[in-house]
Amino acid sequence: MDNAAHRRRDDCRLCGSVQLVKALPMPATPVGDAYVSADRIADHQATYPLDVWLCKDCGLAQLMDVVDPALLYVDYVYHTSVSLGLVDHFERYAADVVARIQPPSGGLAIDIGSNDGSLLQAFQSFGMTVLGVDPARDVARVANDRGIETLNTFFNLALAKQIRQERGPAALITANNVFANLDDLQDICSGIVALLSPDGMFVMETSYIAAVLEHMLVETIFHEHLSYFSLGPLIPFFRRVGLEIIDAQRQPTKGGSLRLTMQLLGAGRPANASVAAVLAAEHDAGIHTLAPFEKMGRHLTRIKAEVHKTLRDLKAAGKTIVGYGASVGAVTLLYDWELNGVLDFLVDDHLRKQNTFSPGQHIPVHAPEALYAHPADAVLILAWHYAEPIMRKHPDFKGEWVIPLPEVRTA
Ligand SMILES: [Zn+2]
Repeated sequence: MDNAAHRRRDDCRLCGSVQLVKALPMPATPVGDAYVSADRIADHQATYPLDVWLCKDCGLAQLMDVVDPALLYVDYVYHTSVSLGLVDHFERYAADVVARIQPPSGGLAIDIGSNDGSLLQAFQSFGMTVLGVDPARDVARVANDRGIETLNTFFNLALAKQIRQERGPAALITANNVFANLDDLQDICSGIVALLSPDGMFVMETSYIAAVLEHMLVETIFHEHLSYFSLGPLIPFFRRVGLEIIDAQRQPTKGGSLRLTMQLLGAGRPANASVAAVLAAEHDAGIHTLAPFEKMGRHLTRIKAEVHKTLRDLKAAGKTIVGYGASVGAVTLLYDWELNGVLDFLVDDHLRKQNTFSPGQHIPVHAPEALYAHPADAVLILAWHYAEPIMRKHPDFKGEWVIPLPEVRTA
């Protein structure tokens, strides 16, 4: 472990408690996005602990091991609109938010972590004035080029004050898949509170731990993803920073997300029934306790054994075995299942992953055509959530598909 690049915090990210217990032990992995080119495969890539801990006081599931963001986000070129289905999602998202909170026409909408501006474009079509904030240079440029004004920087209290001074308060602030990746949540929250108009709304969407536990979404566990949120711990956290959750909805995005709508504390709108309903469901499922994490741990142990048996039998018969999907989360699976030496190579649809080598284990990554060029006998679908579209895209593949989760099956 490289200590300069990693630190272990000892208190809960939301409530500051030091009463934390290891809920889901995971093998250490390298940074999941650190696929390397051929000239770097001699380099050793450090691994960092990936255990999931649970706060005994507020119930937040979280990583305590924080990898230096400078290492995590070196080559961050994810564009929203290239990701299948997300643009549609943003259009529905904007329609839902506008219908519920009815922001004033011309009101200022700010998206924190706005990526290529897809969500803001949807708000713009509803007559709002929009402004994006994103620290990734490439995506900020893409957004500006398509006419969505985007500040290429981090959102914090100082920036919030500056925006308010120059453009007035925000009627709406959104932040999607942002909070889970932040170690320090105080500064962003102070900025949101400082920038909202008195009757303004803050809407955030984040991966939901209830979905991770229900559907065994182990590939959502990686170093960028520091918090595994549920509603229970967030209600008191947001109250302390001056925000009140008045609506909570589960969303199908990314295998299962939670969309929360907030107002400034005391703004007067009553919380609707969804907040109590989601909270009650969390308590029924016990997701602020160890039990469902231990159940997931047992399930993953069994899946690993079954994956090994299935692949070992194929390997013993001299078969070529390939993994499909070279994502950040695939690295979690490759390490958890100890598949180094079992997979001959990986394939991925994304150009930027092709002709690279997987983090740490350095399994070569090819374009999907390699399934035919170096005939693969079996394909383990690491991107198992997309198993059906992947199999449909390859009607001519004659080998066996192995879908590892939520239960191991072949097709
Ligand atoms: Zn806590």
